[in-house]
Amino acid sequence: QAKAQGRNMLCFFDPAMQAAASARSALEGDIRLGLARAEFLLHYQPVVDATGQLLGAEALVRWNHPQRGMVPPAEFIPLAEQTGLILPLGRQVLAMACHQLALWAADPARASWTLSVNVSAQEFRQSEFVQDVLAVLRDSGADARRLKLELTESLLLHDVEDSILKMQALRTLGVGFALDDFGTGYSSLSYLKRLPLDQLKIDQSFVRDVLTDPNDAAIACTIITLAHSLALDVVAEGVETEGQRAFLLRNGCQRFQGYLFGRPGPAALL
Ligand code: C2E
Ligand code: MG
Ligand code: MG
Ligand code: MG
Repeated sequence: QAKAQGRNMLCFFDPAMQAAASARSALEGDIRLGLARAEFLLHYQPVVDATGQLLGAEALVRWNHPQRGMVPPAEFIPLAEQTGLILPLGRQVLAMACHQLALWAADPARASWTLSVNVSAQEFRQSEFVQDVLAVLRDSGADARRLKLELTESLLLHDVEDSILKMQALRTLGVGFALDDFGTGYSSLSYLKRLPLDQLKIDQSFVRDVLTDPNDAAIACTIITLAHSLALDVVAEGVETEGQRAFLLRNGCQRFQGYLFGRPGPAALL
């Protein structure tokens, strides 16, 4: 025991670990500053139907850092989640997304577009989550029926009853729900029928090799069939080639997102 403790002590003063810890706290301070300076912005990636028509977009957060340039979410979302900074960040993201929806609503060519926004577990678990979303919708003037929130399996399963109540409260106003990265979490089919969802998103890890890996093809097709059986929309994520699109379409998928149709970018490029 003493020996183990001694080893832990040595570990604690390990210069590499100390460097990592101070890098983390520097990043945390930087995120805080970035929030105050409004350095976070949204890129929009098109979601299209079988004919290639735009149905809307997914909002993906970026950090326009003064020194580092455009920073992808993988480099700051995990720490934002650990530190609670995801709450003010998520609030900014939702406000920007709803503002964009309100702008689209004023443009006849874009008024029917929906916008999907990713929600992290910590945000969703807040007891004020429903009130917060309602407040942002009200302040922005966005139509709740154009907003879709993307949740993950692990987030929803953490407390299924609470998840259902929150989803139902928001659905009353027209907010939609998508299950993101479907198939990568703890898939339990019994809860799927109870969750008031609108859409399943086939994770890109199944789409990538859908033409060459029979297991991925089987999983993608099963998700499409499952979605239809439950009367849900299904979107394939990470579609990069015409071959992938054709395969998915042939197997009943009617909505697509991926580099084949457009990379995430400023709203003006949609
Ligand atoms: P996600 O919600 O599953 O978003 C899809 C990710 O796949 C995006 O990465 C997108 O740029 C990327 N992608 C789209 N099409 C393709 C393709 O054809 N090929 C490949 N290889 N990748 C493609 P991004 O923007 O880096 O976001 C990564 C993740 O960060 C998102 O995964 C989401 O979980 C999270 N995230 C992004 N924005 C937000 C946000 O505002 N709030 C929260 N809580 N999480 C966010
Ligand atoms: Mg998403
Ligand atoms: Mg996804
Ligand atoms: Mg993802």
